[in-house]
Amino acid sequence: QYFQRRRRRIALSQSQTSELESRPIELRSDEVLNGITGLIGNTPLVRIPSLSDALGVEILAKAEFLNPGGSVKDRVAVRMIDDAERQGLLHPHTGSRIFEGTSGSTGISLAMVAHARGYDATIITPDDMAAEKLHALRSLGAEVEQVRPASIVDKKQNIAKQRALAFSSASSPSVVSAVEDSIAVLTDSDARGFFADQFENKSNYDAHFDGTGPEVWRQTNGNVRAFVSGAGTGGTIAGVGRFLKSMEEDILICLADPEGSGLFNKVKHGVMFDHREKEGTKRRHQVDTVVEGIGINRLTQNIDLALPIIDDAFRVTDPEAVAMARYLVKHDGLFVGSSSACNLVACVRLAKKMRWHSGQRIVTVLCDSGARHYSKVRSTNDEYLHAAGIPIDLSLVEDMLTGN
Ligand code: PMP
Repeated sequence: QYFQRRRRRIALSQSQTSELESRPIELRSDEVLNGITGLIGNTPLVRIPSLSDALGVEILAKAEFLNPGGSVKDRVAVRMIDDAERQGLLHPHTGSRIFEGTSGSTGISLAMVAHARGYDATIITPDDMAAEKLHALRSLGAEVEQVRPASIVDKKQNIAKQRALAFSSASSPSVVSAVEDSIAVLTDSDARGFFADQFENKSNYDAHFDGTGPEVWRQTNGNVRAFVSGAGTGGTIAGVGRFLKSMEEDILICLADPEGSGLFNKVKHGVMFDHREKEGTKRRHQVDTVVEGIGINRLTQNIDLALPIIDDAFRVTDPEAVAMARYLVKHDGLFVGSSSACNLVACVRLAKKMRWHSGQRIVTVLCDSGARHYSKVRSTNDEYLHAAGIPIDLSLVEDMLTGN
């Protein structure tokens, strides 16, 4: 019934904080859920007290770190596998194997869901990936192949795709990817390699259009003024953004873009370039980034779906993301990853820019926990930050909250 209120004008007057306090209990199902994939999604929407109180605007965030694999990517992993099965690309318990190239959480989510569904997983990772992510992948039984960072995103010689093809050709000659034209007919005995391809695979977008987006709408009773998100593959902002716009076209969709990403300029000026171009536009796919998981310098199918519906973009610097990560720990006891911190910086910017009155709601995503990044997210590692010359300065957030 929520979804029948299409394009309804929403009165956004009074704060609903008190109403929020009693709600999370309803959000988790009290049915018995079937296996670990039953725990994916339906995450609580949590109010961020420090920022909301200081701004007088409600900053609400989807607690995606509560997914069983620890991040928003669980949703995408299960959807990519479900869709591949529906398309006849994968049959469970046939010795089939899922392949993906990723430095992010998608590998961990795929490794987890693969085994729950009767597959194995091979994850191709950059050789500088955070040690804890490597441990997580191996603990989940994934086979890990470490390569130079640049070769993960190289479209022409995508290693994950090559591995999937090679694996399949052992038992059957053709392909393997939901985004390929040629799809082989499978027999139950075919052991297949499936290249998940989160950047180009529309199942990524669909996971958010059919899942995260409707959850946000339901949890806010449609009372939401803006949705803010960074984009790595673009699946979250495209899927949630398009769903929310389909319900109420005036909901603003805003991009939080870290330093080194070309998306901010694409949204603002129509051209994708990194403002620090001279230092190398490929920074987002290389080592030494503070904000992990978001920011990109190339167009993908999921980014293409996002661009037309993005209303505004905010560039977030590394020191700002670091400051926000620390600020949240200090004031809210919330230890989130740097992409979540980046999202919240953009929420503050938006609230300030729009001069919204109290009770207006901005929704964003807490993609994963800071615990996933101890050794490398850098926003949690003083030594790294110090060596990189990035200040840990909470007054950056305080100024943002009090300034105009
Ligand atoms: N945060 C983190 C930590 C991620 O790993 C990712 C995915 N790369 C994102 C945010 C961005 O999500 P999306 O791919 O849907 O744009």
